Parts: sequence; C-alpha cells; structure tokens
Amino acid sequence: MSTGNEEYRTRWKGALTDNYGTPALALVRGEGAQVWDADGTRYTDFVGGIAVNALGHAHPAVVAAVTSQIRTLGHVSNLYVSEPVIALGERLLQLFGRPGKVFFCNSGAEAVEAAFKIGRLTGRTHMVATAGGFHGRTMGALALTGQPKKQDPFLPLPGDVTHVPYGDTEALRAAVTEQTALVVIEPVQGENGVVVPPPGYLTAAREITRATGTLLVLDEVQTGIGRCGQWFEHQAHEGVEPDLVTLAKGLGGGLPLGAVAAFGAAADLLRPGQHGTTFGGNPVACAAGLAVIDTIAAEGLLEQVKARGERLRSGIEASAHPLVSHVRGAGLLLGIVLTEPLAPQVQQAAQDAGYLVNAPAPDVVRLMPPYVLSQGEADAFLRDLPGILDAANGDGSGE
Ligand code: PMP
Repeated sequence: MSTGNEEYRTRWKGALTDNYGTPALALVRGEGAQVWDADGTRYTDFVGGIAVNALGHAHPAVVAAVTSQIRTLGHVSNLYVSEPVIALGERLLQLFGRPGKVFFCNSGAEAVEAAFKIGRLTGRTHMVATAGGFHGRTMGALALTGQPKKQDPFLPLPGDVTHVPYGDTEALRAAVTEQTALVVIEPVQGENGVVVPPPGYLTAAREITRATGTLLVLDEVQTGIGRCGQWFEHQAHEGVEPDLVTLAKGLGGGLPLGAVAAFGAAADLLRPGQHGTTFGGNPVACAAGLAVIDTIAAEGLLEQVKARGERLRSGIEASAHPLVSHVRGAGLLLGIVLTEPLAPQVQQAAQDAGYLVNAPAPDVVRLMPPYVLSQGEADAFLRDLPGILDAANGDGSGE
C-alpha cells in the first residue's frame, strides 16, 4: 500500500520536533528539476532544497561519485586525510584564484560558527553584521543573524555584535573600529527576501575593514558555487578580496557539506587543536562536492545560470501582472517582489499548479531552481505564472 502525503504528515507529527511546523508535502523522488510527492504529483522544483540542489535531483555525476567513494572509503575522521578532501580544498582555492586554507564542516551555520571563532582569534571581540541578514541558527551564527524574532528566545547570545542596515556604507563605516574583529556580509541577502545591495557596497566594506585591520567575512552559503552566475558572487562586480568566505548549500550536491576559506593572515589564525568536527571533510561529501564543481565547469552551467536567470527575470517582469512589482537578485537566486503581502498565497497557488516556490518574506517569492533547469521548464513556469498570481490574488484569506 502506498503512503501518501497525509500519512507522512501524521507520522511527522508523531516523531519529529515542532520547530518546522508540519511540511505540506512528502517528496519521494526527483530527477533534474522535477520532483514527485507521496501522492504521485509531479512538480518543477524552484526551491531546490533551499538553494542546495545545484545539479538538480539524482544527477548522474553526483550519484556516480558518491557511489564510488562510499564503496571505497566512506569516512576517516580528521585524524587522517583522504584524497577527496584535499582535492576539493585545492579546487576551491583554484576557483577563488588565491592561495589560502580551507576548513570543512557540515553546514552553513557551522561554517559561520568557524568564522566567528577565527574572528575571536584576532584578539578582538566586537563584530558587525547586517540587519535582516541570515547566517544560521547555532549560537554564534545566530548572534550574527540580524533577525530579532529568531534571536529573542535564545538571549543572551555570545559576542558583542552590532547590526547595521544592509547596503548602507556610512552606517558600516560608523560601526567598524580598531576593536572590530570581523564584519560579516551576504553578497545578496537570501533569507531576508533576496535583497541586493547597491553597487560598490562590498568594495566599500573591503576598504573600511582593511583600514581597521578587521576581517571581512563574506557569507556565500547561499550565493556561492555558481548560484548567482559566477563561482562566488563577490567575484561578479567588484573584485573584492575577502579574508574569509563561508560556503555550504550547493557545495555538497545535496550531502551535508560546509566550508570556510581563509586568505592572507586569516589563513593562519586557527592553530592545531583549536577547532574541529568529526564529519568535516568526509570523503563522500567531498567527492560529491568535486562532482558538482566538475559538472558545473564541464557543462558550462555558470552561463546557463545567467541565461535562465535573465529569461525568468525578464519574462516575469514582461508579464506586467498587477501583483508583481519587480524582480531582484542575481543568476538563479531571484525574488519576485509583490505589490501586496501575498507570497504565502502565491506559494500555495504555485504548488497547486505544479511548481515548488518559497516565500521568505510576506511580499517576496523566491526562486532558486537547479542550474540544470531547462528552457522548456522555465518557459512553462512563465506561461503558468499569471494564472498562479491570479489564483493567489483571488484568495485573500491566507491559509
Ligand atoms: N548563511 C546563509 C547566507 C544562509 O542562507 C544559510 C541558510 N539559509 C546559512 C548561513 C545557514 O546554513 P545552514 O542552514 O546549512 O546551517
């Protein structure tokens, strides 16, 4: 007997914690940008595991790399070293185009946590982050996250953190002093609703932090590994050279994998014994990471990300639907900004029409599909979007 969405929901309630609420759907299978739920309904996946599934579901290169690696050597801990972890560290540094050192962990929050600890090793304690920014839910990462609702139940949080308005160069300049250990910035604020800073912001952040000897941490957990059309979003516009870059999400091809890349003097701050995690640099996760990077490079997917992103952006704006104000973002990290706070209704209407999208803010619908999204899949979404928006508009009641 097959198990449907409803039965999964009941089992979820019986066994799992309440922090996520109860998910609407149980997904059972995926291929490329398509996923199927437990009732057998098919969706085009514009959520991508929250910007994780760069190559889509069940990509043959990831399947082959993971299968081969787990058959050979599944786990060694960091008491030993294995080929995939070294190869992935080398490959990342090659993509950054700078010498440095990489620390591997298992998630975005852990990558930020490591950056937080590296910041403390400067001997300074003050940190600056941005209002609305999201850096994860562990205590150090949460202290940097600029969303009071997420922080409040857990006060007091570690650190001495000042949050400044995102994109405001003068506020940043005023907050950063010679006591500031680090400044952490997302090149695009993803969880806050795909907020893009004004041109020159990262360059100014680099100048400000350099002048005070402060580490510049760019949190590329969401924007990195090609999501925005270049390997790392900070490489796009401004030629900025950060001291630390945090990565996760797309890096592991769906396996739990995070990393911090450190450059210059920041690469030498962590001393033996000061930080670590058993699973960090796991050979299977790193083999998946190498497969992701090799496939993006071999198949020209950075160009495809830019092309699909542009097509979606211009197609959505050209629809001139009254519920659409504009589209913001970069590459395949796009936010449809609505003229009314109906994003949850749009999410539901999209699901009813066979598309998974996400609503990070009441008036923002976020798209972060796999880079392998075909032109046909993008165009089908564009064709169906006006009907989805009409349905959302007609259902003003909410749930
Ligand atoms: N930083 C950024 C920019 C993120 O978008 C996220 C996750 N949405 C995190 C950190 C935390 O990553 P994780 O959920 O893997 O802990």
